[in-house]
Amino acid sequence: MEDLFIEEEIEALRLTIEKHNKLYYQDAAPVISDTEYDLLVKRLQALEEQYPQFKVTASPTQAVGSDLAPGSSIRAHKMRMYSLDNGYSFGEIQSFLSRIQKETTTFPVCILEHKFDGFSINLYYENGTLQYATTRGDGYEGEDVTENILTIPSIPRNIAHQLPLEVRGEIYLPIAEFQRINDERSEQGEKPFANPRNAAAGTIKLKDKTIVAQRKLEAVFYSVGMHETELSSQDELLRFLDQLGFPISKNIGHGKSFSDIKNFCNGWETKRGQLPYEIDGIVIKINDMALQQKLGFTSKSPKWAIAYKFKAEEKATILLDVDYQVGRTGAVTPVARLKPVYVSGSTVSNATLHNADEIQRLDLHLGDEVVIIKSGEIIPKIIRVIAEHRDETAVPVKFPASCPVCGTPLEKESGGVVHYCNNIACPAQLQRRIEHFASRDAVDIDGLGEALIRQLLGHRIIGGIADIYSINFAEMAKLENQGEKSIENLKTAIEKSKDQKFHKILFGLGIRYVGAKTARILAQHFGSIKPMMQASKEQFLEIHEIGEKIAQSLVDFFADEHSRELIQRLLDAGVNMTAEVTRKSETLQGKRFLVTGTLTHFTRNGIKEEIEKQGGITVSAVSGKLDYLIVGENPGSKLQKAQKLQRVTILSEEDFLEMIT
Ligand code: AMP
Ligand code: ZN
Repeated sequence: MEDLFIEEEIEALRLTIEKHNKLYYQDAAPVISDTEYDLLVKRLQALEEQYPQFKVTASPTQAVGSDLAPGSSIRAHKMRMYSLDNGYSFGEIQSFLSRIQKETTTFPVCILEHKFDGFSINLYYENGTLQYATTRGDGYEGEDVTENILTIPSIPRNIAHQLPLEVRGEIYLPIAEFQRINDERSEQGEKPFANPRNAAAGTIKLKDKTIVAQRKLEAVFYSVGMHETELSSQDELLRFLDQLGFPISKNIGHGKSFSDIKNFCNGWETKRGQLPYEIDGIVIKINDMALQQKLGFTSKSPKWAIAYKFKAEEKATILLDVDYQVGRTGAVTPVARLKPVYVSGSTVSNATLHNADEIQRLDLHLGDEVVIIKSGEIIPKIIRVIAEHRDETAVPVKFPASCPVCGTPLEKESGGVVHYCNNIACPAQLQRRIEHFASRDAVDIDGLGEALIRQLLGHRIIGGIADIYSINFAEMAKLENQGEKSIENLKTAIEKSKDQKFHKILFGLGIRYVGAKTARILAQHFGSIKPMMQASKEQFLEIHEIGEKIAQSLVDFFADEHSRELIQRLLDAGVNMTAEVTRKSETLQGKRFLVTGTLTHFTRNGIKEEIEKQGGITVSAVSGKLDYLIVGENPGSKLQKAQKLQRVTILSEEDFLEMIT
């Protein structure tokens, strides 16, 4: 039984990693940090090792992440391009070395190189002339990017070497150039790149090489693929490349002992901020090529090299001020305004402080020197204060007693850490509440976003959520940037939103603690708004998933006259407040379900529970008895198998959600 879950977890991990591979390598738009990504891969590796029966050859642990985009021009590599194994601790480096020491009597001398955070590239030369340049692709074949590569001046067109030669390295954007490009993009209203690596990856695949030429890409080389030259060490290889005119790294170390390696890694981890380019670690390579050959490769990376990955970069800067933002539920969040500082790929000038307790924990004073990291390298966070550098006259940061926008005294929920402005008419909350109401997961009014809401509120065309349904469009037409077409579209979107599903409308009301899932449960339980408004706390508590906190919040919300008025006005406008009730237990009762692909609304275990709770049966393979196959993103072979069986109904996650609500 447990094995079933393991198999499921392996498949889920595999699909998740493949999704992130695409985001990273093809779209140059990752949504998780490298560290988080590496953790997923390590978990999958460990499971596959422990349960080899579930290992598949198509696993991302067996292949390099592919950057090949559909429709691009592809060329095969003459020799395969590999990825690199990595470790986040010296323990992992130590075990890497121990494995190698089984093959040698002496300490294996290592070459230590910066791990450039760029985009890998392969150049092919014949008769001393560059023939083409390709990306790593899937490791076997890459995308032809010759035209773009030729815009990089440091890449030699001709070399004094007639034999066929594949040269490998990295293209990257120096930090200064990255910042220049981002400033330019911000000015032109374009979205800035998240970090230099993404910028380089995005640039190299551009169709317009004149734009590529304007971005001053640089290159560094450290490896060869196919070659017909005798090379006996990595040292010699680097000299060979250097002599042919390829840029190589200026910071190469020799590891003759473990402490050499440690010192080089630690040294650069501290100094990396001084480099004009980004590195995310140190690559440790066995120098002796005879030994390299003996060690060979795994299905994905050389066994003679490992990348020591750095921890999230820490930077010190000055706390200039603290702002307090009021969210839609009235929660007040402190935000630190910082002296802009460059950290892990971008310039940071704000960091979240979460709540009043966090300010206390840090013992934050205005003007403090603070240390920040990007947790998961995405959201900046203050981790500590350098109290020794504090000025004697510095004033402690004091969480306000009243709402910074409307002045209402803030209240802290009992036992909680969050302070709330409980004024339902607070203008800051109003803006956020309308944004929330109109958002995709709620009522979904396309076109009614932050800016337009601000504009409509500012001109008093709306004053609250219910006013959306009585907008004076003639007045709106007089506003700036409001063309006939966009007003027509908005009208349609607003009309359409009236028929939105009840649980989404309920979610849109923005009741504290009532998230999308709770709204779904409530809608299903009560069927419509009226009985919910009359329900007692005890009645809410009878619902399995509803606890004390949510129940109290619901009772408070429905007791509030503003909420009641809002609901009445929405009803009057014709907004749907009734769930389409399908007798749940009847639809799923006794039916057999199977899931494939990555789900967005459920975890694998979550959907199982849901199916079973409603009387369905979950099975682990496609068979003649299967009734429904729920298909997520990147479905596996189960889908093809199921499609061949007439009996099986294929459901999207949305279809399934509809079935159960
Ligand atoms: P990954 O992208 O996680 O597969 O890491 C492996 C990649 O690191 C290689 O494909 C190279 O593009 C890159 N890399 C950066 N610097 C070096 C270096 N000094 N030696 C080898 N690979 C490097
Ligand atoms: Zn307020």
